[in-house]
Amino acid sequence: MSNSSGRSYGRRRVLVTGGAGFLGSHLIDRLLKRGDEVLCVDNLFTGDKSNIDHLAGNPRFEFMRHDVCFPLFVEVDEIWNLACPASPIHYQHDPVQTTKTSVHGAINMLGLAKRLKVPIFQASTSEIYGDPSIHPQPEEYWGNVNTIGPRSCYDEGKRCAETLFFDYHRQHGLDIKVARIFNTYGPRMHASDGRVVSNFIVQALRGEDITIYGDGSQTRSFCYCEDLIEGFIRFMEAGPDVHGPINLGNPVEFTIRQLAETVLAKIGGRSKLVEEPLPQDDPLQRRPDITKAKQQLDWKPSIELDEGLDRTIAYFRTIVAEKPARIGERHLAGVNA
Ligand code: NAD
Ligand code: UDP
Ligand code: UDP
Repeated sequence: MSNSSGRSYGRRRVLVTGGAGFLGSHLIDRLLKRGDEVLCVDNLFTGDKSNIDHLAGNPRFEFMRHDVCFPLFVEVDEIWNLACPASPIHYQHDPVQTTKTSVHGAINMLGLAKRLKVPIFQASTSEIYGDPSIHPQPEEYWGNVNTIGPRSCYDEGKRCAETLFFDYHRQHGLDIKVARIFNTYGPRMHASDGRVVSNFIVQALRGEDITIYGDGSQTRSFCYCEDLIEGFIRFMEAGPDVHGPINLGNPVEFTIRQLAETVLAKIGGRSKLVEEPLPQDDPLQRRPDITKAKQQLDWKPSIELDEGLDRTIAYFRTIVAEKPARIGERHLAGVNA
């Protein structure tokens, strides 16, 4: 049943932009489990319908192919803005479109939230800290970002989106939730988007060399997707006084070489570790300070890398065995691909 504006009575109707992607599809699973109706909006630029195929017959799920750079007029009770290519290969493929997605997409989704007077979540990123000179990174740190490098379209787009969120909050009283997400991994990552966890696992499963960029001494902290989504939900449910930005990630830090060795030890096989040039502006270290998330959301990750990798390897074993063609694709359907 709907009211005059088209919104359902009783059941919460939520919009997830970027819902056919890695994180978006896990979020949708969780929201459907919560009892919500979900509208997934995605232009399938990097997303894949196979991530949401299992929801096709669900009467509480709806998919709309749409680019968030254009206005969207729908009636919902809550907005989760995740639409944006996330891996360096993907966001550098069409950098202008990447910035447009972050900035125009944020303006449109904020305009929608303003008209409907509903809470809106923004998937921001640890990339807004750039190559950080403070370690680990607390939310108060303003970052060290190159404005004109190959990563800038993503980093500066996401920084501008944060500015827009806080200005809509101050100027129009919007209930915003800005999460700074640190490296997250798990099933449904793209097999070929160049991110380190998927790259290393697929390379090891296929017996190919494992490509360490630089000497592998750079660090990252890896959060399993299920932990991250729990953080998202707690943030949205934290009430109208909690706006962030809040870091969400796993504070246990590994060098990239350690990650390669761990993946290889788990999968075995004949792969060798080989060094390749470090990409420009590649941050040397990254680890979240999650004090704020612990205090304000009572949240911390619980799935260790060991277990998360086992689950992710199980997923990629299926992809490598049953859908090898997907690994060769770069999933750049749609916009200027
Ligand atoms: P993903 O590429 O799997 O998902 C992004 C989704 O957005 C895709 O389905 C894509 O098709 C869609 N999309 C892209 N441009 C769009 C547009 N203009 N209109 C509509 N849909 C569009 O990436 P992900 O890892 O799931 O990332 C989701 C969000 O989380 C992104 O905003 C990303 O910046 C953020 N994030 C992710 C990580 C991580 O480690 N995975 C870390 C920090 C931030
Ligand atoms: N917008 C939208 N859906 C809505 C309301 C607004 O996509 O339901 C878009 C609209 O295109 C506008 C943007 O959001 O350009 C920002 O809206 P806002 O009301 O803040 O600004 P204005 O319309 O005054 O430019
Ligand atoms: N990396 C690597 N080999 C790969 C892919 C990535 O050594 O095959 C490195 C990359 O240079 C970076 C780290 O792993 O230092 C994380 O890369 P990813 O693209 O996953 O995430 P981001 O750089 O955005 O944190």
